[in-house]
Amino acid sequence: MTQPYELVIGIETHVELATRSKMFCACSAKWFGAPANSLVCPVCLGLPGALPVPNRRAIELAITAGLALNCTVPAHTKFDRKNYMYPDLPKGYQISQYDLPFNVNGWVEIETGGGPKRVRIHRAHLEEDTANTKHGEGYALIDFNRSGVPLLEIVSEPDMSSADEAVAYAMAVREVIVGAGLSEMRLEEGAGRYDVNVSIRFMEDGTQRWPPQSEIKNLNSYQAIREAVAYESERLWRDWHEGGEIRTRTGKVTVGWSPERHRTFLQRTKEDVSDYRYFPEPDLVRFEISPELVAKLKSGIPELPSQRRARFVRDYGLSDYDARVLVSDRALADFYEESVTAAGGEPKAVANWVTGEVLRYTKGNGGSIAKTKLRPQHIGSLVRLVKSGELSTTAAKDVFAEVWQSGQEPAAVVKSKGLAQVSDEAAIAAAVEAALAENPKAAADYRAGNTRALGALVGSVMKRMGGKANPAVINRILAERMRQP
Ligand SMILES: [Zn+2]
Repeated sequence: MTQPYELVIGIETHVELATRSKMFCACSAKWFGAPANSLVCPVCLGLPGALPVPNRRAIELAITAGLALNCTVPAHTKFDRKNYMYPDLPKGYQISQYDLPFNVNGWVEIETGGGPKRVRIHRAHLEEDTANTKHGEGYALIDFNRSGVPLLEIVSEPDMSSADEAVAYAMAVREVIVGAGLSEMRLEEGAGRYDVNVSIRFMEDGTQRWPPQSEIKNLNSYQAIREAVAYESERLWRDWHEGGEIRTRTGKVTVGWSPERHRTFLQRTKEDVSDYRYFPEPDLVRFEISPELVAKLKSGIPELPSQRRARFVRDYGLSDYDARVLVSDRALADFYEESVTAAGGEPKAVANWVTGEVLRYTKGNGGSIAKTKLRPQHIGSLVRLVKSGELSTTAAKDVFAEVWQSGQEPAAVVKSKGLAQVSDEAAIAAAVEAALAENPKAAADYRAGNTRALGALVGSVMKRMGGKANPAVINRILAERMRQP
């Protein structure tokens, strides 16, 4: 069934930047898990007369984020007061940015069913996070530890047209922010949150209809984004057809998402921008961002996962799939590159090991390569032993299992377990003679053109050699011998 409307989606991504202290005071910004109201001072409690001092590191991280998201950094910027009353905002206003944000006009690329697509970023501005409210039966508790934590808000253009694209965008932004080391953006801790604006557009009686949108607040998992977009777009469509309030409403509504009930619920009808009565923050000076600072921050951005993926495909000849698997985990990608060096090249053989055995064992062990006894040198040795013919591919897997357990050098395991592959030509030739003498029918069949008979002969030779003979050498000697009368 095709969807009777077009989906139009824009996303605001909130990121708590990885600073040690808060945006405008010296309190620790590491609020998650701390005892309630233990990280507070007059500034972040909003007490009268307390003055904000901007956090230089937060500003640098905010600009770096913009640069990593392909934004332009305007030369002049400032903070503004966004005025509203809410229990989690003791000052009665939030210090944010209105018309002169730190970053404008960026983009990220996402993968869609129809190929790569650019989602434009309208702006990315810096503000302070609010306190945390915990609701109980008939009461609410407020924890001010989070109040004043530096928060970057990244606002996309409404460029996404499906739940899949919305999720791909959310993942792409997070990949850039985490990859550039600006925030760990732990979604389950609220250190990364998404507000998703959903609207539907369709033709009705020859007229294009585009009813007001819904803003779904504070989604903190990709699954929640996917489910909430699907639910809310269907709800808007149904509401329109049943002659509901959406036909008369002019502004957008704000809704929450209940992951337990798999549905949205109304929070409020949205204030207009003018309701916030923005004005320049009088306690802070304006900022001039020098081209030198921008250049310095830009040069400090590490290689991002998307760039690393492209380099793996280009320089190592890996498939896009393998490159994705490796780059999905920074430690794994580092391990891979160190293994290639240790193996003296062989990027594809190393990739087979890392995306195969290494990943399989690591997943069974909690998922972190750093917590295992395995070292890049081990993979390097295994690849070299197989390449030189000293170890068969099958035996190499047994050696790997032992290395994984004990952390021993592969060469030592090969020796102690007697797993070395035999490439001794005289020994193999002798076994070939014995196999031919024992299987005259197979030899005759092969000479008569039945190539499958060769398999039986190879098997017989291998059995005589205790399974350790180099199959390439067996095949070669056998083929040479069969050409003789
Ligand atoms: Zn404080």
